[in-house]
Amino acid sequence: FVEIRHAQKSYGKLEVLKDISLSVERGQIVAIIGPSGSGKSTLLRAINDLDPLTSGEVWLDGLQVNKSLPHRQYENHINEMRQQIGMVFQHFNLFPHLTVRENVTMAPKLLKKISDKEADALAEEQLDHVGMLERIDYYPSQLSGGQKQRVAIARALAMKPKLMLFDEATSALDPELVEEVNLVMKKLAEEHMTMIIVTHEMDFAASVCDRVIFMDKGLVVEEGPPELVFKNPTQERTQVFLRKHL
Ligand code: ATP
Ligand code: MG
Repeated sequence: FVEIRHAQKSYGKLEVLKDISLSVERGQIVAIIGPSGSGKSTLLRAINDLDPLTSGEVWLDGLQVNKSLPHRQYENHINEMRQQIGMVFQHFNLFPHLTVRENVTMAPKLLKKISDKEADALAEEQLDHVGMLERIDYYPSQLSGGQKQRVAIARALAMKPKLMLFDEATSALDPELVEEVNLVMKKLAEEHMTMIIVTHEMDFAASVCDRVIFMDKGLVVEEGPPELVFKNPTQERTQVFLRKHL
């Protein structure tokens, strides 16, 4: 469903991704863990070509995301692909001058040309899903970090993506706010949303993900089901990392 083939990425002389290949099946939940600087965010951003690979291919549901096309055609192509990929970052990037409702309805209205009424219904549905319906007419500044992050998830879901990418969605939150966001992600997992989750929360990864990928220095060092990777890591580097983080 998601295929990354021989992904390689360099910034000048620094090789940040070294020939990474991985595939994620439809409905699978994959965690990416690894030390700071190992290339996790770079890999995630390469999936929707926000951070283009130096070489290699990214495929989603039978289409190549980072297809080489003349500029204008590429713009159309990538916009369509990005509509199918929801992304939630560490720092909630809600539009501060827009209400929760407007944040959620903006992209569907603009890109899917749906009516105000349909967009409202969609926003209500998605906000209800993340437990934020009561705050639909609030501004981001009137919300807690956890609430903002739940709105960011609802906003991504409003585009009905085929794939959701999370890059340390909870790591900027106060500890007491982490759980409410994790619960939303768990709910999505139960609904079989395909998700790739970069996280440093090993317990969360172990309880939600079907597969864990350990990256170090631009390489996938080890991958497998969480019970194997966390309990019986075969690679020395994974063992060292987990000793520090479990
Ligand atoms: P963290 O856990 O700290 O978020 P990460 O695994 O997400 O780390 P990346 O952000 O992917 O790591 O960065 C991988 C490497 O690429 C780092 O060495 C980083 O300094 C480098 N890097 C990232 N973005 C750029 C850039 N725009 N220009 C130059 N180097 C970059
Ligand atoms: Mg990162």
